[in-house]
Amino acid sequence: MPFQSEDLTRRSFLSAASLAGGSYLLGASTASAKAPQIRRNGPAFYRFGIGDIELTSIYDGNASRPLTEAYVRNVPLPEVQAAFASALRSTAITETPFSFLAANTGEMLVLIDTGSGGAYLPGVDNGAANLAAAGIDPLTVDMVVITHFHGDHTFGLTDAAGKPRFLNAEILVPEIEHRFLIGNDPLPDFKLAPLNLGASGARQRLTAYGNRVRPYRDGQELASGITALATPGHSPGHMSMRISSGEEQMLVLGDVITLPALFVAHPGWHMFLDQEPQLAEATRRKILDQAAAAGLLVAGTHFPFPALGRIVRGPAGFEYIPEPWRARA
Ligand SMILES: [Zn+2]
Repeated sequence: MPFQSEDLTRRSFLSAASLAGGSYLLGASTASAKAPQIRRNGPAFYRFGIGDIELTSIYDGNASRPLTEAYVRNVPLPEVQAAFASALRSTAITETPFSFLAANTGEMLVLIDTGSGGAYLPGVDNGAANLAAAGIDPLTVDMVVITHFHGDHTFGLTDAAGKPRFLNAEILVPEIEHRFLIGNDPLPDFKLAPLNLGASGARQRLTAYGNRVRPYRDGQELASGITALATPGHSPGHMSMRISSGEEQMLVLGDVITLPALFVAHPGWHMFLDQEPQLAEATRRKILDQAAAAGLLVAGTHFPFPALGRIVRGPAGFEYIPEPWRARA
């Protein structure tokens, strides 16, 4: 008779239950209180390293929205649903995680984006608590680098009362967006944004930092081992960071790729929040090529937590491989 694992499991379970006998079962049935269900996960941060630089991925939360025709601009909904289905994800809602990063170079503590500060979308309000859980005091942050102005990246700059949370930090904003947010210059391509995306909120929060806000440019080394890389399209001034130390390097992508389940396999799909869709696509293809060719670790604000993975070239295009969790950084 062939081995029947299901049978064996059921039989061993039954015999284990009967062996446990009356006292165990009686104990269970007369217990005065059942263990309460908790329905919440623990503090969520993830420490890792690139050479001598210590990095911490900080989880901010997740938000759901109904999946509609509008989500991907240039592809019919059934194709998007098929892509979610093949990733075993819901075809009715999109669930988007949010995170940001801290980098300790040994000389400077740098935050790359700040999360939503609980002020952008319901359910995305864990950034401050998780930063504290990770042992990072906002007062010890020396520099905050903003990848782009959207609210889920900038609203964490201030607390609920609008006060700066990083009182000892300099705030660095991509040059193009600095001109728009601080200089009040018109952003030429802003008309392409279907939504406000938090521009006025970002301006308000940056203003709270007064003269500690300054622009940065493509190619500039912002702190030891942290270099800006222009990746425009998702927003007009969008920047990524190349982090390198010793032989190791990685890319912090911000929103070059939002949900890997859709936009790694389909870099030509235009997510509705990409403000300059053609440019966003060109940037995405270039970055995917580079990341796959070099086997680079990549971080993405909206990747499944801890928001780290690698890109490989598969037979049908690019594939996203999540980085495995490790206990030691
Ligand atoms: Zn974002």
